[in-house]
Amino acid sequence: MTAPTDDWMMWLAERYPLALVEMLHPSPPPREPLALFGIECREGWKPILIKLLDRLESEISAQPEQRRYDFRVVQIKEKLGTLRVYMPGEVTDEMQMAIALAEDASGKTCEVCSASGRSRQLRGWLSTLCDSHAAARARKSETGDGDKGERALLAREQARRGEYLTWLESQRLLREYREAKVGKKEK
Ligand SMILES: [Zn+2]
Repeated sequence: MTAPTDDWMMWLAERYPLALVEMLHPSPPPREPLALFGIECREGWKPILIKLLDRLESEISAQPEQRRYDFRVVQIKEKLGTLRVYMPGEVTDEMQMAIALAEDASGKTCEVCSASGRSRQLRGWLSTLCDSHAAARARKSETGDGDKGERALLAREQARRGEYLTWLESQRLLREYREAKVGKKEK
């Protein structure tokens, strides 16, 4: 099950500092979805995202410096079984093409394991899955919500601050929480 600390997302954020600037350096409120929630899809689409972000990053770095921020990604999510990638303004043809190719590829790629997959309707949701992950999902509902203690921790912190935590802040909190837990076990 996907844990709420998303090391693969952190890896992407560090590898693509221009395209994914919102993840490590969120712009001020109102926050963009990418800053609040990170990448809202499963790890099976990571190879598709790498291919896309390689192209976006090099296209963005070819822009004049003062324009690069206009080409940052503000949301990456799964919707109706395929990948959606949003940028705030007008994009270049090259960017548009790269995004269209990625969205197209996601419709044929299992969102869990990257194997070849197809769109299926399960429990009322459209998902792109391989045969074995479709069977697994039909057998049991995947919660994907992570650990109860961790969810409670994030909810408490959010309530204390009276505003949403950014993805980056929640990653830090979860990391500290897990390190403290491991520390207790070792004593
Ligand atoms: Zn699969």
